[in-house]
Amino acid sequence: MDLGWSGSEQSFRREARAWLRANVPERPLPSGDTRAGFAAHLEWERRLHRARWSVVSWPEEFGGRGATLWEWLIFEEEYYRAGAPQRVTQNGIFLLAPTVFEFGTPEQRQRILPRMAAAQDLWCQGWSEPGAGSDLAAISSRAVRDAASGGWRLSGQKTWTTRGAFCTHLFGLFRSDPEARRHHGLSYFLVPLDAPGVTVRGFARLDGDEGFAEVFLDDVFVPDRDVLGGVNQGWSVAMATTGSERGLTLRSPGRFLSAADRLLDTARQVRAAHPRRAAAHRDRALRAWIDAQAYQLFTLEQVTAITEGRPVGAESSLNKLFWSELDIRLHETALDLIGDEAETEGPWTKGFLFSLAGPIYAGTNEIQRTIVAERLLGLPRK
Ligand SMILES: Cc1cc2nc3c(=O)[nH]c(=O)nc-3n(C[C@H](O)[C@H](O)[C@H](O)COP(=O)(O)OP(=O)(O)OC[C@H]3O[C@@H](n4cnc5c(N)ncnc54)[C@H](O)[C@@H]3O)c2cc1C
Repeated sequence: MDLGWSGSEQSFRREARAWLRANVPERPLPSGDTRAGFAAHLEWERRLHRARWSVVSWPEEFGGRGATLWEWLIFEEEYYRAGAPQRVTQNGIFLLAPTVFEFGTPEQRQRILPRMAAAQDLWCQGWSEPGAGSDLAAISSRAVRDAASGGWRLSGQKTWTTRGAFCTHLFGLFRSDPEARRHHGLSYFLVPLDAPGVTVRGFARLDGDEGFAEVFLDDVFVPDRDVLGGVNQGWSVAMATTGSERGLTLRSPGRFLSAADRLLDTARQVRAAHPRRAAAHRDRALRAWIDAQAYQLFTLEQVTAITEGRPVGAESSLNKLFWSELDIRLHETALDLIGDEAETEGPWTKGFLFSLAGPIYAGTNEIQRTIVAERLLGLPRK
């Protein structure tokens, strides 16, 4: 693995940095997990798109720059370093889009991807149900064939749908063959949230933002063209999405590198006023910073593997375990450094509350540890 950047990668970095410096809003936008904040973030998403920075790694015909995985990592690094707004489109562009590229028909790609890149259609992930979280194959929302109309009728309930109340579309799994064994009877559907029979009810997260929704479907019609990857093939299609969610695309190292730099800045500021407190947490701060660099190196190694055609597979569970626990360590250390003032609202406090969700979403860490034990270490199943 060559750790140096090529001339063209360096010029890509300079171009991204210059654009971000000129365009990132001076004042942070309100939280994208509130209705007003979401609208403000959409403005930003559309600005990114107009300058062709919204989906840098996609082919140009779909709104991207055809950037390599390395360039994408560079962009992510610059994005977080610039303090740019959170990506409220991330469930679409990082989870659904790789699946559409892999499993979609040419017609689906043309219809779905450019509108997603332009933040015209906003996608949320409808997998979890009240009785199916970790055990995703237990889902009971069903799809019944409506041959006369050339489509399907969807019914059931989805929950924990991130920003579902603000999105326009949902991608989700539904049971299309009730007779088949658990994993075999599922199909992957694309559903407009304004379709007759859909009810969306927002509810609050731990930090109070209305970032979640429950989605109720009552005999919702979707045409055949909105099945992704084949009828009853939903499990293998969804597993491709899961790899993106746990691994590279959802949590690129740029986010943690920038948080680690902010942590050291916080430590320096605290040192001036509270030298003893800063000294007490010095090693933890350094450890968290080093871990962020380690995550970067691990990711570079994975990108090398991907570009050489070696599959990443279950290793994405290692990424997930690492970034979720690192995020908590970074935030806890910052709050301990800040001390009593951390009781008040601030970016570290807000970030800490969200970091607590890291071991839960994208597959809980207990489940990831089982995957690592069985598939990477070859330990016997219980
Ligand atoms: C911030 C956030 C955003 C989310 N966004 C979305 C979204 O956009 N779309 C969506 O569909 N879902 C979303 N989720 C839901 C998330 O995917 C689920 O919460 C997660 O899969 C766990 O499912 P569960 O909550 O039903 O918990 P359960 O599956 O009931 O698990 C409860 C506990 O039991 C443990 N457990 C369960 N089974 C086993 C086992 N076999 N071995 C060991 N331990 C086990 C779990 O690890 C966990 O600790 C989100 C969750 C959060 C917190």
